[in-house]
Amino acid sequence: MKLSEVVKAMDKTELLYLKDSYAKTFQGRVLRVEFEKKKNVYLVLDKTIFHPKGGGQPTDKGRISNQNCEVNVKKALYVGGVVVHWGRLLQGDIREGLVFGEIDWERRHLYMRRHTAGHLLDHCLTALTGRPVETTESWLEKPCYVGYAGSPPSTNYLERAEELANEMISKGAAVTIENISHTKLLEVAPHAPNIYRLPVLETYRIVTIEGCTPIPCAGTHLNNIGEIGRLTVEKIEECGSDYRVFYDVQ
Ligand SMILES: [Zn+2]
Repeated sequence: MKLSEVVKAMDKTELLYLKDSYAKTFQGRVLRVEFEKKKNVYLVLDKTIFHPKGGGQPTDKGRISNQNCEVNVKKALYVGGVVVHWGRLLQGDIREGLVFGEIDWERRHLYMRRHTAGHLLDHCLTALTGRPVETTESWLEKPCYVGYAGSPPSTNYLERAEELANEMISKGAAVTIENISHTKLLEVAPHAPNIYRLPVLETYRIVTIEGCTPIPCAGTHLNNIGEIGRLTVEKIEECGSDYRVFYDVQ
């Protein structure tokens, strides 16, 4: 079955992870059930904490269940504002109604640590080179990286960026989120690393690590960079006229 048919005439899903990235469980209502083959099933709910694959972030995995059924959710997909959960019915019979959802928290928390560390890396490279970085892409599964436009800084800058990031992590800094208009975005974040590739929207979700440039971003972040642990810059790779910085968190 095509995903466009699964989401046909569905309202947009309420994305609970945008309000609280630390939510590990939720209760939602199943609005559509479409079996693909035998036990593989697509589920659309009114709301979800499952972050779909997108924007460099891999899908959340987990479980959706109630007294009648249990579904092992293997991936969540984003189709025109609707999150489609895809997984395997382990037992029972799934139908429309209330369900309990739970994400694989260890996996998600690792992505939150890597993602927040990526923003910190942007900040440190900009602060040290004096040249605002422009992000082009990112990926949070191993090997985890951030892509930047232009020619790469010298290895020396990368070593110093790692040092500065770890200094900031050990001191800790709050990460806050607010929603603002496009006009305000240009005022508060004219040098955000991803400003050039944003679509024009009614509101932007602005993420600010205390002391750093605010960044419009719809990803899942930590509440404090202290939770990153330690950031290690692993290598740098040039790709055409751009470059990727590979890193990880420990
Ligand atoms: Zn982000």
